[in-house]
Amino acid sequence: MHVSAECYPVAKAGGLGDVVGALPKYQNNAGHIAKVVMPMYRTKFLLSHQWEVVHKGYTNLGSWWFTYTIIKESANTLGFDLYLVDINGLLDREKIYGYDDDPERFTAFQISVVDWISAWEHRPDVIHVHDYHAGLIPFMLKHCFRYQHLQLIPTVLTIHNAQYQGWMGWDKSNFIPSWDPWKWGMLDWKNTINPLASGIKCAWKVTTVSWSYLEELRVSANGLEALFEYERGKCSGILNGIDNLVWDPATDTYIQHHYSIEDAKEGKAKSKQNLCDTFDLDPAKPLIVFIGRLVGEKGADLLPQAFGDSFYHIGREMNFLVLGSGFPEVERALEDLKIYAQGDYNAYIGYNESLSHLMYAGADFILMPSRVEPCGLNQMYAMRYGTVPIVRDTGGLRDTVVDFGVPGGYGIRFSQVSVGDITQAIWRAAELYNDKEKMEEIRERMMNLDFSWETSVGHYIDLYRSLK
Ligand code: ADP
Repeated sequence: MHVSAECYPVAKAGGLGDVVGALPKYQNNAGHIAKVVMPMYRTKFLLSHQWEVVHKGYTNLGSWWFTYTIIKESANTLGFDLYLVDINGLLDREKIYGYDDDPERFTAFQISVVDWISAWEHRPDVIHVHDYHAGLIPFMLKHCFRYQHLQLIPTVLTIHNAQYQGWMGWDKSNFIPSWDPWKWGMLDWKNTINPLASGIKCAWKVTTVSWSYLEELRVSANGLEALFEYERGKCSGILNGIDNLVWDPATDTYIQHHYSIEDAKEGKAKSKQNLCDTFDLDPAKPLIVFIGRLVGEKGADLLPQAFGDSFYHIGREMNFLVLGSGFPEVERALEDLKIYAQGDYNAYIGYNESLSHLMYAGADFILMPSRVEPCGLNQMYAMRYGTVPIVRDTGGLRDTVVDFGVPGGYGIRFSQVSVGDITQAIWRAAELYNDKEKMEEIRERMMNLDFSWETSVGHYIDLYRSLK
């Protein structure tokens, strides 16, 4: 049973949604029974699907007693049983996060989930919780008096992003159903209740979405470094997969010109032509794209200067195209650059799923100068579409991209989040583009790589089995 705040396509804010939308599907394909439970937000998916009520319960968040309802999607459209928790007024809102009462919302959600599971006739084999929004569940199963009968259900916590930890003041400790006061240390980190830290302490096993990210968390984890070091024995990294059925240049419904390894050169050239026509770019020049949230984590603030410096130092030998939204000042700087670099640069500020697919298909290179990247999906999508990743040497980017300077390599890696390093990597991309033979060799190598979920599912199943 997966417990998560996000699940694509029901509700997604980032990679967490993609993973929880795909992992259970592939676990079911492999012959297991995986289900997902998440909060019932007021989303398009909710309104456009059929639901049946499977459970109604009555429980409390401190002194507030409430009724919760568990509904299940009737048609099983996602390839796994999907359950939503409805707590009137608390969860059924349009946004996933960002409300003042988020601590109340996610604590009440977790209590309802555990309360519902405690009424099951059969116990789940494993409860797999994702990120801090479900991080208190391992504590509740172990140390809340009324759930003692669930104590032996193994728990796994997967960390998709350790920056967000769900901190709550100790004044909210009564939210958690009556618990053994000797265990207060299992909730605490630096004098606050820290649901992510509690999950790390209490879950039977902890995973991160790449092994390099786990290494990095021991030195930089927004205050939890010592905890990751102390608990290293139960932590492991399992790389995310990509949904090869959705992300396939041979069948992708968002692109016009389909291709596979054999005709990638022609297929990509047509998509590139489409992009260049739309965005007033030159198809003869290498096309370098950026797709993602325009935030510091992604290094997006450095893009305008890195593009400007590249034009200045290398010359107008390459084209750039950006798709993303985020910090207003970064959006503004990227808009302003359009005037200076017309014909060689363009940007689409906003979210556009179909354009992102066309960019993966039509680009020659994708740039990811991330400061932090727990796993990263873009580079894996890009490689499946024959697009060379230019990435900073961090987290999941380090685990999935090998520099083409190394025998058998296929991407471009750089080490610092600095305009200088990014510009130098762009220069290497421009040089590589001129070596047509090498480009083709690299493209073929990348498109033959396997980032499918099947491999990761195997690792998760092995982990679950180790808990028996
Ligand atoms: P994160 O979860 O940190 O944002 P990931 O690499 O795990 O980063 O996932 C990013 C996903 O969001 C990818 O599927 C990417 O294509 C998509 N994406 C990000 N920004 C946009 C955008 N502006 N338009 C379309 N898709 C986007």
